[in-house]
This record gives sequence, structure tokens and C-alpha cells, in this order.
Amino acid sequence: MVVIKLEDCDSPEPLKNVGYLDVRQKNFYHLLTQTLRSDCLPRSSESISSGLSSVLSSRTNLSNGQLLATVTGKIKGQWKATLVFDSDGTVPTPLSCHGINVNYNEYANILNTILEDPDIQSCLSWQFTIKPFIVICILIVIWTIAFLLVIFLLIDAPKSSALPIRLSVFLFPLVLLLAGYSVRKMQKQQCATIALQMLKKCVHINQLLYQLDRPVLLTASHNEGHKFFINFIYFDIGDCVANIHSYLDELHSDESEKLMALIEFYTMDAFYLTQGTLAERIVVMLAAPYSLQLLHRLLLKPHHEHHISGHMCLCQYTEEFTATYFASIKTAGGTAMLSSLFSKYLNCSLRKNSMHTVREILRIDERH
Ligand SMILES: [Zn+2]
Repeated sequence: MVVIKLEDCDSPEPLKNVGYLDVRQKNFYHLLTQTLRSDCLPRSSESISSGLSSVLSSRTNLSNGQLLATVTGKIKGQWKATLVFDSDGTVPTPLSCHGINVNYNEYANILNTILEDPDIQSCLSWQFTIKPFIVICILIVIWTIAFLLVIFLLIDAPKSSALPIRLSVFLFPLVLLLAGYSVRKMQKQQCATIALQMLKKCVHINQLLYQLDRPVLLTASHNEGHKFFINFIYFDIGDCVANIHSYLDELHSDESEKLMALIEFYTMDAFYLTQGTLAERIVVMLAAPYSLQLLHRLLLKPHHEHHISGHMCLCQYTEEFTATYFASIKTAGGTAMLSSLFSKYLNCSLRKNSMHTVREILRIDERH
């Protein structure tokens, strides 16, 4: 089933969450062909009815924490490095079906937000292009010529005058090796930064997914081979939010303010989900780093299972995070605690020399 809008109108109730194509869109025919080719369209009358019911009925057969889809990104380009996702443009079937209903526009929007992020773009520098390789090749050629010259021209030269030249020519390969090594190291660092920026973007996209009522959490990871992964994880966070809501009820007003300052600091957005409650804001903010740890199985097994089987739940993670945050504010020497809080729960490290500013932004009393 493909819903096509011919003119502006309200979608009928049962089709509200299905998503639609608009005839007036510039690339309408391209989108239509892609949608028709994608696997999530039912092909037979039997599958039409089951497909329809899976689209229209509630989310079935899915449990919290289940990985729905992964999009792989790679850095490509000879002269200019660019990040490319191996996506054929269609929404992965598990995301468009099962009552999750991520539509084409939302999906394309998610990938584009990550691809076009200026912070990620600025990390894609010359290290990933063919340039360092060419420079090293040229240096090897020069070195070979120098080596041959030393062998043939300086063969009869007196030892004392030729020694510095010989020594520098013979030691040059070491310099090349070092250059190659440092380019690799830079690439590794740059990749880690890109992955971090992607995670930050996911924090913002999770806000959007929550507002659209999609039971999906987004997180980003990377591996040694310069590959990046955007992971879509099924998670209905309604129960977790309710849990945290009652947990935060016991906070004093100045504690809530400190929590809000932390949200603003981490998301770098004063309006991060401001139309939601504090519980919604903190749970949605923690969703991306939480899912990353869930994916890498870094979370400890909890004593009590909450809304996910076998793992620590997002609400337990949030509770722990909040408790640790307040403990780091209230205890002496809390700076080290605060910095470990950021690396453990938010997957980002704070620089030592920036700790004073961080405490100032978070309005933490300096007497502690
Ligand atoms: Zn929970």
C-alpha cells in the first residue's frame, strides 16, 4: 500500500501513521519507484492484509532493546573525503513496518542530518584522502634517487665529509615510517571524534523521534576499519519516563534546576525537548549513550528487571546517572566524580582544564 497525496488534505485516521508521498514533490516519480521496489510493500493479497494489519495495528513481536536496522557509513573520496552511507534510499523494512512507521521523509531526514552536520564535515580532512599517500610516494622516489647518488657518487669520498650525507640518507626511511604511522594515528583520532559527533547528533534525533511518537532509539558507533554505524533500536520508553517521573518528584527545585543546566550543557541546546517534562528530557537525552552501551553489552546486569529483559533498563540507567550527578555535586572532590560521570554515562570526556568552566555552567557551588 502506498498512500499518495494529490492535494492538501488531512489523512484519514487509520492512515495517519503510514506516511505518504506527495505528487507535488520534485522527485515524486523517483520516490514512487523506490517505494514500489522496496521489500516492505506487500506483494500478494494475503500479504496485503497481513502487511496492512502490521502497519495499522500496534507494535507486536518486538521487545525493548531489539536492534531493528543498522546503516553503515564509510569515508570515501580521493581528493575530498566524504562520508557515504550504504543506503539505497529506501527505509529498512523493520523501520517502516510493525507499527513503527518511520516514513521515507523521516528516514532520509535522519541520514541527511548526520551527513550534513558541519562538525562531522570538519573532521573529514586530508588524512582520509589519497594526498598523504602521494606525498609519501614522492618522498620514496626522492629517497631512492638520493640513495643511488650516495652509492655511486660518494663511493670514493673521504669518510669524514660524506658521513653526514650518508647517515641522513640511510636514516630517511625511518622518517617515512614515522610519517606513515602518524597519519594512521591521526585517522584513528579523527574517526573517534566523528563517532562522538554522530552520537551527539543521535541525541538530537532521538528528541525528534520521541516527538513523532516513534518507538525507536538512535545511536552511533564505529569500528577500527573507519566504518561507522547508525543503529536503530526498538524501545518504547513510555514506562521508563513514567518511572523517572515519580523518581524525580522527590527532587528539590534547586536540584531540578541543576539537572536542567546539565541537559542544556550536554545537548548544547537550551530548548532541548522543553515542551516535555524533566523526566522526558533526561530519559530522551540519555537514550543515545544508553543504547550504545546496550549494543556493546557494557551495562551491568540489574538486580531487578524493568522494561527490558536481561539488561539494565533505560530508567535504571537514568536513575543511576541522576544519583551519581547529585553525589558528585554534594561531595568534596566531586570534580573527578563529575568527569567520570561524563565518560561513564554520557560517553564523552571532559578536559581537565575545562572542569572549572563546566562547574560554573552547571552552577555547582565551588565550596564543594
Ligand atoms: Zn525502564
